[in-house]
Amino acid sequence: MKVRSIIDKLYKENNATSEELLFILNNLNPEDKEYLVEKAHETRMRTYGDKVYMRGLIEFTNYCVRNCVYCGIRAENKDADRYRLTEEQILECADLGDSLGYKTYVLQGGEDPYFTDERMVSIIKNIKKRHPKNAITISLGERSYESYEKMFKAGADRYLLRHETASKELYDKLHPNATFENRRKCLGDLKEIGYQIGAGFMVGIPGQTNEDLVKDLLYVKELQPHMCGIGPFIPHKDTPLKDYEGGSLEDTTTMLALIRLLLPAVLLPATTALGSIDPQGREKGIKAGGNVVMPNLSPTNVREKYSLYDGKICTGDEAAECRKCIEGRINRAGFKVEITRGDNVTFAQENNIDQKPEPVNNINLSFVK
Ligand code: SAM
Repeated sequence: MKVRSIIDKLYKENNATSEELLFILNNLNPEDKEYLVEKAHETRMRTYGDKVYMRGLIEFTNYCVRNCVYCGIRAENKDADRYRLTEEQILECADLGDSLGYKTYVLQGGEDPYFTDERMVSIIKNIKKRHPKNAITISLGERSYESYEKMFKAGADRYLLRHETASKELYDKLHPNATFENRRKCLGDLKEIGYQIGAGFMVGIPGQTNEDLVKDLLYVKELQPHMCGIGPFIPHKDTPLKDYEGGSLEDTTTMLALIRLLLPAVLLPATTALGSIDPQGREKGIKAGGNVVMPNLSPTNVREKYSLYDGKICTGDEAAECRKCIEGRINRAGFKVEITRGDNVTFAQENNIDQKPEPVNNINLSFVK
């Protein structure tokens, strides 16, 4: 077996066996890595071209009932400074995002029972009333089928729920009082209801092996999510994993490139976590097949509090500064910012969604330093 011939097979057939994927992960040298990234880039150029989609991220609560051992907002972290945005604040973030040209919002938070179905339905409906053409993505963890359905009927379009790891053994160690099976059931429920779904996993989580990463690749291939969030694990000082090493840029970009080859039409974020471990992390993620960035729209006074891991970037910048900074980075990396809802191409074709850009009302960012 040769690494290059497996990459060629992946490029042509968008598939590989678990043995072949493991062989790549165990034997990838720098020249083969370059080839892998090149092939992932070519694949993205065929499906999405040089466009990079922007999503305005609204981190609206850091209360959480879960205790994921890696996460800074876990319930048992008594040092976390908890906050919730009001509906009015969330709507202000959505207005600001729209004025900056974001046509998709990601409403993300811990698993916070305060945000009942009733409250979420009201938030979703009111955002849609003000910005009917914009897409809403929810990322609020595990909820019941009925809850997901209510939010979908209210107008939510997409749901992000990383599967975190496809190894049951590792999942169970990392997630006290939660089950591997329910996480997967939720992803199935979301897909059945009609959401565009996002799965995803962390790279370099303590105890993770290359065999586990192969399971992630094969699970994502089988699930066929519309999006896939892949980022490095980064330790947080107030968690049980505080003394462990984080995931690397190289390993994360390898996984991004492999996912691009396995699922050519997937929407693949170059994550903030990747940008936090390397000043060029997001650019490298885009070059390896990534085509989504999620600049922050949350009010600056809460950004530090949404602390999942140490060293998170962009906590001090106003939303307009983030917008300008990210556009510059995307352009300098040789790509173009795309001002549309940015639906998954296959989903858009199947559902007759018009992907043409809206006329842009002259976003003027010249006032930003
Ligand atoms: N509560 C929702 C959920 O469970 O999906 C969304 C919020 S959760 C904080 C968002 C994501 O942050 C998780 O899916 C996880 O992969 C990531 N995350 C949490 N702690 C992290 C860490 N220490 N390093 C890197 N990513 C982390």
